[in-house]
Amino acid sequence: MIEKILIANRGEIALRILRACRELGIKTVAVHSEADRDLKHVLLADESVCIGPAASLQSYLNVPAIISAAEVTDTVAIHPGYGFLSENADFAERVERSGFIFIGPRPETIRLMGDKVSAIAAMKTAGVPCVPGSDGPVDENKKRTIELAREIGYPIIIKASGGGGGRGMRVVHSEATLLNSISLTKAEAAATFNNDMVYMEKYLENPRHIEFQILADQMGNAIHLGERDCSMQRRHQKVVEEAPAPGLTETQRREIGERCAAACRTIGYRGAGTFEFLYENGQFYFIEMNTRVQVEHPVTEMVTGVDIVKEQILIAAGEPLRYRQSDIVMRGHAIECRINAEDSETFMPCPGKITDFHAPGGPGVRLETHIYSGYTVPRYYDSMIGKLITHGEDREAAIARMCNALRETVIEGINTNIKLQRAILRDGTFLAGGANIHYLEKKLGM
Ligand code: ADP
Repeated sequence: MIEKILIANRGEIALRILRACRELGIKTVAVHSEADRDLKHVLLADESVCIGPAASLQSYLNVPAIISAAEVTDTVAIHPGYGFLSENADFAERVERSGFIFIGPRPETIRLMGDKVSAIAAMKTAGVPCVPGSDGPVDENKKRTIELAREIGYPIIIKASGGGGGRGMRVVHSEATLLNSISLTKAEAAATFNNDMVYMEKYLENPRHIEFQILADQMGNAIHLGERDCSMQRRHQKVVEEAPAPGLTETQRREIGERCAAACRTIGYRGAGTFEFLYENGQFYFIEMNTRVQVEHPVTEMVTGVDIVKEQILIAAGEPLRYRQSDIVMRGHAIECRINAEDSETFMPCPGKITDFHAPGGPGVRLETHIYSGYTVPRYYDSMIGKLITHGEDREAAIARMCNALRETVIEGINTNIKLQRAILRDGTFLAGGANIHYLEKKLGM
């Protein structure tokens, strides 16, 4: 078994990983920036190392500092969490070359999936349904590009192969603006992602976002843990997530879930991962794979009873999967509301000192957060300060619990989006289930 894990992250996910380590009897090393000395997991970890100044580039993205911290603490494995270095193939490679276990897929897999053109090609080969598109990069042949676009049919979305975080995409409604839009996206992609490769896809007008969670061990076993619906988004950022996806049939779940698991076996995937799909008119279209644990993993944990972070660690330790597909049964319904330190109306980040904090509770209520009364939310990082998750025997019960839990939550001293979350939980379209990815922005008048 792994004796010691270095947690290369901060905030709620660092605390989540620390708790999983503790349950498994594994020692923990917290690495943190100068601005994060008071983080809850830093105070709880067996050891902690300051790896640099507040700016992420000099701390949480500082590969040499993290590797040195692992060396001086005699760490065995490194858990990257989400964001930061979690999908950086070069980091994973450095970790392994330095003799540590990287808790995640092999560096080659991260590289394959990090490039959208190669990821789509691999998924197509593995039988996962994809969005009709250029099936490869757009090249210099303008005539061929125009023909391809006609075959796909407008509207079209031009996407950067190296893109991420909702950036590097442009929708084109007619041929008149096609070539110009391609040049613009290419230039942006070169500047932002250091890779000017772009490709074309059919732009789906009113899809839902449905993603499948998978787990794969190092012996070639892979299973899926069903899906999550993450259609409530603002600026491509998920706001509310739930499992299962309203209205999805058991047959659809089995068919797509098994294709994802099969794709994992084909590419030799290792660890936890997510296949993201757009879902429209009963059809699934693969858009990308996330090769790490996701923010919204708890809703899957609540309905399946599987601890995804513990499984990631056990897989990294070389253990075979503890579950077969037939062991996975989805029970009830779970919802997650992301709690952000931001203004409910303007969405401006709102860092500062939390003067009073009361956590919600009761059956089926789970709060994942690192905040406490007296904690100061630093201004340097993402504004998400926690996640509230509720579970109930059905969607209605989970929603009723969420409404109560949001009402019970008190966070004083800073603004949060709890007011917005309460409005979403009362919204008729949300209550009906199955809203598409544009719904929230329309509701907000954006
Ligand atoms: P990123 O890696 O930047 O998150 P994704 O490929 O996951 O990029 O796409 C992000 C979002 O962009 C999707 O959730 C969806 O809202 C929109 N999008 C991407 N591809 C399409 C498409 N073919 N049709 C419609 N919307 C799309």
